[in-house]
Amino acid sequence: MRYISFDMEGTLIDHGYSEHIWGTDIPRLYAEKHGVDLKDARKLVFHEMNQLGDQRPEWYDVGYWFRRFDLPGDWLELPEKRRSLIRVYPDARITLDALASEHPLVVSSNTIRELLEVQVEEVGDYFTHVFSAPSDYQSVKKDQSFYRTILEVLGIEPNEMIHVGDHYTYDYLIAQSTGIEAYHLDRTGKTRGENTLGSLTEFMERLKKA
Ligand SMILES: [Mg+2]
Repeated sequence: MRYISFDMEGTLIDHGYSEHIWGTDIPRLYAEKHGVDLKDARKLVFHEMNQLGDQRPEWYDVGYWFRRFDLPGDWLELPEKRRSLIRVYPDARITLDALASEHPLVVSSNTIRELLEVQVEEVGDYFTHVFSAPSDYQSVKKDQSFYRTILEVLGIEPNEMIHVGDHYTYDYLIAQSTGIEAYHLDRTGKTRGENTLGSLTEFMERLKKA
């Protein structure tokens, strides 16, 4: 029985939850703390983030930015506070319900564990394992070593896993180059390709045919 690995944001849930925390909560706290308006706070926050760059693991760490910007309150309350913004795609629900009885399911995500855990709770009790690249492996991207570690933890060979996610490079090309059967989810329908699918229900149909 092959494992099926899902990316989280953009695949099982939409980007609203993370976008709100990064794009509104952090700038708003910055604005309050430093006495600037929200628009300027956003500019300043994003400028600092760009300066650091997404190749550094701290970039993904909400706690790091709280300390760096001297933001008030306990950042660990934020993931819980925004729980209601987590929206599970309807086709994700249908797909997980259908596949859970036939395959062991896992999540392989590039979101930090503090946010990811709340997301997983909202999606539901489907998964045997949840992997966070930045929290578990100090990796800034889902690279080959991330996928290899997952296979090692699960004790399986690459051909015993299927991965699906919405990032063409990190979910599709890298997973595939590690020897995993990978699918690129493009909900916009703009990309065409043999292993590009427009929804998770299409993904499920493809698995049935295989
Ligand atoms: Mg994604």
